[in-house]
Amino acid sequence: MNFKIGVIPGDGIGPEITAEAVKVLDAVAAGFGHTFEYEEILLGGASIDVHGVPLTDEAVETARGCDAVLMGSIGGDAATSPWYKLEPSKRPEAGLLKIRKELGLFANLRPAYLYNELKDACPIKESVIGPDGFDMIIVRELTGGLYFGDRITEEVNGVMTAVDTLSYNEKEIRRIAVRAFDIAMKRRKKVTSVDKANVLDSSRLWRKIVEEVAEDYPEVTLEHMLVDNCAMQLVHNPAQFDVVVTENMFGDILSDEASMVTGSIGMLSSASLNETKFGLYEPSHGSAPDIAGKGIANPIATILSAAMMLRYSLDLDREADAVEAAVERFLAEGNRTVDIAAGEKWLGTSAAGDMIAGMIS
Ligand code: NAD
Repeated sequence: MNFKIGVIPGDGIGPEITAEAVKVLDAVAAGFGHTFEYEEILLGGASIDVHGVPLTDEAVETARGCDAVLMGSIGGDAATSPWYKLEPSKRPEAGLLKIRKELGLFANLRPAYLYNELKDACPIKESVIGPDGFDMIIVRELTGGLYFGDRITEEVNGVMTAVDTLSYNEKEIRRIAVRAFDIAMKRRKKVTSVDKANVLDSSRLWRKIVEEVAEDYPEVTLEHMLVDNCAMQLVHNPAQFDVVVTENMFGDILSDEASMVTGSIGMLSSASLNETKFGLYEPSHGSAPDIAGKGIANPIATILSAAMMLRYSLDLDREADAVEAAVERFLAEGNRTVDIAAGEKWLGTSAAGDMIAGMIS
């Protein structure tokens, strides 16, 4: 089959790691008889340098014309990069918010998976985690809630006061809940919905709508969990989670916590999806300006993001399995990049990408 894939190399290590993911996609295309056509898209600092803005309208249109978009990461060192002397709406991150909004990317998927071979990197004792590790996916609502509500900063009776608004409507809640249940159907069929329903009206509506959606998925077990308890459970018993669905800010915080529990940020992928099959796929980590250009970045998170793209946007499940199996084999055979190496022997970015691409079968 033929697919058009947008590629956003971005900033910092972004171009290095996307090149390796494309290498792996090329191996998939050759091995499974597909044609992937790539369209390069500028976003972030790379776009500011050329166009003076972090994302042009033309770039959005190019992305819209693709079946899916694979991204490296964007941004620079805030202390030294000239991009951060610009006003906030012109900085690299504004480009990311714009593309998410323009393309309606409301569902952010962040898997947190403990690789058997990397158990030593996990900060939690094996006796707590259990022999089988953990494998969860956090489904975060990405375009509503506190980050998009009305804001006011004003002086009230001589006292400076700031207000942020947390608002959700039932349509926004229903579509993210449906995504979570659909994903659970492809996994271990359990959804944990996280809210603060003992305090917030928006959470009480969230809980009601999630329960309505659950009625359409009788095979899936639904549980509700308060966000403060969830923060504890993630380090107390992460193996209990399969699919966790939650609103924007809770998801932002919990997905970072879950990724740190794996102990290997260079390994974690993510996807942001809209109401169609379209998605933007990127590693969970940032642009790592401290190691940019050194050829030592771990490309696995981006390669696994490409696997998610194959599964969720292109419906190529077998091919996604092949990429994930290649990464497992790479690790099982003792190969490591510098961030996950315990000893002195490790592979650079390109050598790691070559090896994983060579293991696609
Ligand atoms: P970071 O994730 O870029 O780096 C944190 C640490 O992890 C650094 O020591 C880095 O060297 C290391 N690291 C990250 N990815 C790695 C990889 N693949 N291989 C090996 N080591 C890796 O986080 P930060 O330093 O807080 O942010 C740097 C820049 O990235 C900032 O401009 C930030 O805004 C941006 N950022 C972008 C995104 C995105 O593009 N979606 C996400 C997060 C941060």
